[in-house]
Amino acid sequence: MGFDNGALRSLEDALQGMLARLDCRCEAESVPLTEALDRVLARDILSPLSVPPFDNAAMDGYAVRLADLAAGAPLQLPVAGKAFAGQPYEGEWPAGHCVRIMTGAPVPPDTDAVVMQEETQASDHGITFLTSPFPGQNIRRRGEDIREGASVLGAGTRLTPRELPLLASLGIATVSVRRPLRVAIFSTGDELKPVGTPLQHGDIYDSNRYGVRAMLARMGIECLDLGIIPDDPAALRAAFLQADREADVLITTGGVSVGEADFTRQLLEELGEIGFWKLAIKPGKPFAFGRLRQAWFFGLPGNPVSAMVTFDQLVQPALARLAGIHFQRPLPLAATVTTPLKKSPGRLDFQRGILSQGPNGLEVRSTGSQDSAVFSSLSRANCYIVLEQARGKVAAGETVTVEPFGSLLL
Ligand code: AMP
Ligand code: MG
Repeated sequence: MGFDNGALRSLEDALQGMLARLDCRCEAESVPLTEALDRVLARDILSPLSVPPFDNAAMDGYAVRLADLAAGAPLQLPVAGKAFAGQPYEGEWPAGHCVRIMTGAPVPPDTDAVVMQEETQASDHGITFLTSPFPGQNIRRRGEDIREGASVLGAGTRLTPRELPLLASLGIATVSVRRPLRVAIFSTGDELKPVGTPLQHGDIYDSNRYGVRAMLARMGIECLDLGIIPDDPAALRAAFLQADREADVLITTGGVSVGEADFTRQLLEELGEIGFWKLAIKPGKPFAFGRLRQAWFFGLPGNPVSAMVTFDQLVQPALARLAGIHFQRPLPLAATVTTPLKKSPGRLDFQRGILSQGPNGLEVRSTGSQDSAVFSSLSRANCYIVLEQARGKVAAGETVTVEPFGSLLL
């Protein structure tokens, strides 16, 4: 990959460069449908049957043959029998009769239409039809939803409460899914202390690890949490080696900015390869990508906001590729900005914004200070305001692109 000390690389360039090197590394395994929530399909699902599996009534009413209701014929027909869901009518259906039928019941052979109950009148002599039905009316045809053999879900689909009932409707009891990707994480820095311990002067609490852990959990990824590693070459080396042995990926935060990158750089050069990138994005300029002996490496900046932005924009799509998840980029939305935004041309900027519905469409305002150490701006925000690399400061009233936070989750 080669050490890249040159010009800042664009986000798109970095992302494409990374994705081009990454393949899914999770084998397939079989799980029962009841344990398949959030798992990722290893293969396309072809429908083993047609849905619905038989022609059936879409309404409560009466199954009729159109010839029996043809012009001139009486519009009143006696009832030959009843068909319920799960209890088809299998008796005789003499000409000049109708069949009482409930929603979901199979229509008797030769049925031309189902007339809804509200368009009929019942009397001792039979059923009077108040409208003239057209062929196929209120009949759900076999295979109308899904044809036998059709591809229903693609490999890489993450199974949510929307997909599981669909699979069940096809009678599928077990699915082939990818084993979860295994990711080791640690935070680096002599100043970092774990929550639940007192701080000495100069210490801060390690917060990044809780963000990264949570993002991994949301993605259905297994996390090996190696805790806080001090800025000490021997301790870092031991942690890198453990991650390399036990995980598919190592994600660290901190220790990749200018004065600090040396240990990481040396370790990557010794153990694997380095594609050290300084990116033309803000926040998140220092971001490292590389490979250990077998695990991939992502080094996120220590500043909490930078760590989150680089995770969302770079690590999330990369992990999706490694885990075999079909990744869809968030849908960019256009919104009118209601507060001026500071920005200098040169880097793609991910500012934190509050998106709302205004009288004339979507509006977005800044959360205030965009300093990458101001973590509270992230929890006040509900979207990124994405300002193009070449763009300068933005005046209130201009149109900007926003990415709502929820849409980044897989
Ligand atoms: P670094 O990237 O190590 O130079 O860190 C940049 C800034 O982020 C410093 O102010 C660090 O103290 C802070 N920082 C680094 N790691 C963490 C962390 N895990 N949690 C909170 N702040 C951090
Ligand atoms: Mg540090």
